[in-house]
Amino acid sequence: MTGPSAPRSHGRLALRPSAQPRDLMAESRVAAGAWTARVITLFPDAFPGTLGLSLTGKALEMGLWALEAIDLRPLGEGRHRNVDDTPAGGGAGMVLRADVMHRALEIASAGTPVDRASWPTVYLSPRGKPFTQAMARDWAQAQGVTLICGRFEGVDQRVIDHWAVEEVSLGDFVLTGGEIAAQALIDATVRLIPRVLGNQMSAEEESFSEGLLEFPQYTRPPLWEGRAIPDILLSGHHAKITDWRRGQAERLTKQRRPDLWRAYCAAHGRDPDEDREL
Ligand code: SAH
Repeated sequence: MTGPSAPRSHGRLALRPSAQPRDLMAESRVAAGAWTARVITLFPDAFPGTLGLSLTGKALEMGLWALEAIDLRPLGEGRHRNVDDTPAGGGAGMVLRADVMHRALEIASAGTPVDRASWPTVYLSPRGKPFTQAMARDWAQAQGVTLICGRFEGVDQRVIDHWAVEEVSLGDFVLTGGEIAAQALIDATVRLIPRVLGNQMSAEEESFSEGLLEFPQYTRPPLWEGRAIPDILLSGHHAKITDWRRGQAERLTKQRRPDLWRAYCAAHGRDPDEDREL
């Protein structure tokens, strides 16, 4: 075991920003060419976090994808390895230094394709473009991604501009750091990699896959607290079940997400205000 500031790798090759990389996963799981998330963070201990559990965790162990945390701390300035400083122009908090983040991005870019579509480089930020299922699909097609987790007031703008880093947001709220957002984005992406989900069909039917929210799901018992499962689902009539589910998905989307509903109608040549029996 190495110290808490050592970089660590999960599932594949270790990156070596300092002398002592730490590979938490067994060598037998090394899978050259697997989809890889490189995460620049002050808190490598936060990884794999929830990504190490359940299906994403099993897939990580199997080498279907890889996770490499690049620790910002050893890349810091001076004896104290300072990574942040006060904001130019004054104001509260601290800002992550451009030179320190630059070193991390140099390490992260080693061996990655120059073409950003093949390897998106992203700063998690509330100012960014909101993350969507479509982005998860694009990222799953890439060879990997580099994610920068901010802390404090964020990252010096110059390093974002210099590397033409794309900013992506988890949603319209402010987190303390980018680590939770990075895990959310990686989770959404990794589950679209073939064989990560046991049953690939579930990714095809779920919310957003066709621009609609998912239909309601039921399981045993058939009657619970006086509430029955809709008869149609117990009928064994697959075509009718498919129709019912689509109707429910449309009804829910129309009610809850008029923005998605309008986009769906435009894509399918339908009138969003149509008065169909849903
Ligand atoms: N001062 C910044 C917020 C900094 S929050 C602002 O007002 O825009 C600290 C870090 O948390 C950010 O650098 C970012 O990496 C992360 N973060 C916070 N909210 C986020 C969100 N909604 N999506 C993605 N990352 C977020």
